[in-house]
Amino acid sequence: MSLPDISSLLEAIPQPALLIGRAERIIGANSGASALLGGAITGRHFITAIRQPTVLDAIEDALRTHAPREARYLTNAGEADVTYTVTARPVDWGSMQAVLVCFEDITHLEQAGQMRRDFVANVSHELRTPLTALLGFIETLQGPAKGDAVATERFLRTMAREAARMERLVHDLLSLSRVEAQERVRPRESVDLGALLTSVCQTLRPLTQDAGAALALTLPDAAIKVPGDADQLRQVFTNLIENAVKYGGQGGAVRITLTQLEAAPALRRPAAAVTITDQGPGIDPLHIPRLTERFYRVDGHRSREKGGTGLGLAIVKHIINRHRGRLRIESALGKGSTFSVLLPLDV
Ligand code: ADP
Repeated sequence: MSLPDISSLLEAIPQPALLIGRAERIIGANSGASALLGGAITGRHFITAIRQPTVLDAIEDALRTHAPREARYLTNAGEADVTYTVTARPVDWGSMQAVLVCFEDITHLEQAGQMRRDFVANVSHELRTPLTALLGFIETLQGPAKGDAVATERFLRTMAREAARMERLVHDLLSLSRVEAQERVRPRESVDLGALLTSVCQTLRPLTQDAGAALALTLPDAAIKVPGDADQLRQVFTNLIENAVKYGGQGGAVRITLTQLEAAPALRRPAAAVTITDQGPGIDPLHIPRLTERFYRVDGHRSREKGGTGLGLAIVKHIINRHRGRLRIESALGKGSTFSVLLPLDV
C-alpha cells in the first residue's frame, strides 16, 4: 500500500491515530493525532512525539512482540484533564509491519466513575453520622443510663430526630433516582399552577408558622396550565418554598409570584414563570452554579441543623429538566435570593 493510501485510511479513523513502522518512525498520522501530539510528527521517531513512559512501553512492546498492547495517556485541554486509552495493535501488510496507535477519549467515563464513587462516599457519610449517634445512645441506654427515666426520655427524643434524618435522606435518595429514571419521559397531565401553588402554601403553613415567616402568593386573574406531572411539580415548589422559609431568616417574608411570559428568553416560547423570593442572607455568587449538585451545601452545619439532606435542589433541577423548563437562581450576600422556575406552556 502506498503512502497516500495510508494517510487517507488514517484520516478515516474517527479517533487520533498514527502508524509506526518497524524502524520506530511515524509513517503517518491523521489530523486528530497531529492536533493531539503536535504538527509535523510524520517521519519522526515516536519517542519524540509521545513522551509518556507507559505509552512508549506499550508501543515498544507491540513493535517487539507483535501483540496488541494498551496504555493510558493523560493530557489537558485548557483547564480540563483529558484521559485517553491508547491501543497499539500490530498491522501486517506482507513485507511492511507496523503498529497502529489509536487514542480513545475516555474522559466522560472517568468522570462518570468518579461521580459514582463520590456519590457513594457522600451517601455513606450522610448515613453514618446519624447511625453513629443512634448506636451511641443505644449503648448509653443499655449501660450507664439504664433505668434513668429522665435520661431515657431525653435520649429517645434525640434518637427519634436522628432516625427521622436518616428516613428523610433515604426518601430523598429514592425520589432522586425515580426522577432521574423518568427524565426522558415527557409529562402529559395538564397542571393548573395557581391551584397547585395555593395548595403547596397551605400544606407548608405549619412549617411557616413555626419559623415565624409569612408567605405572600400573587396569582394572575386567568388560570395558567402547563403540561406536567402534578406530583413532581408539587415537589419542586415545596422544596423551593421550604428552602426560602428555612434559609430566609426568622420572621422573613417569602413572596411567590406566578406570571405568564409570551416569550421566555431562555426558552424562546411562551412559558409560565414562578418566582420565589426570600429576604434571607442570600448566597455568594461563587456557590450559585453548584447549588443543584447533590449534597452541595453552602453551610453544611446550618443545612443539617435545619433538617436538610442537600438533595432538594438536585431533585428540583431534574424535575424541571424533565419538563423542558429552566431554573434560575439570583442572589447576592445580604440581599435575599430569588429562585425562578420557567415552564413551557406547551411541550
Ligand atoms: P438542603 O437540604 O441543604 O436545604 P438543597 O439542595 O435544598 O439542600 O439546597 C442546597 C443548599 O443551597 C443549601 O444547603 C443552602 O446552603 C443553599 N440554599 C438553598 N436555598 C436557599 C435560600 N433560599 N437562601 C439561601 N441559601 C439557600
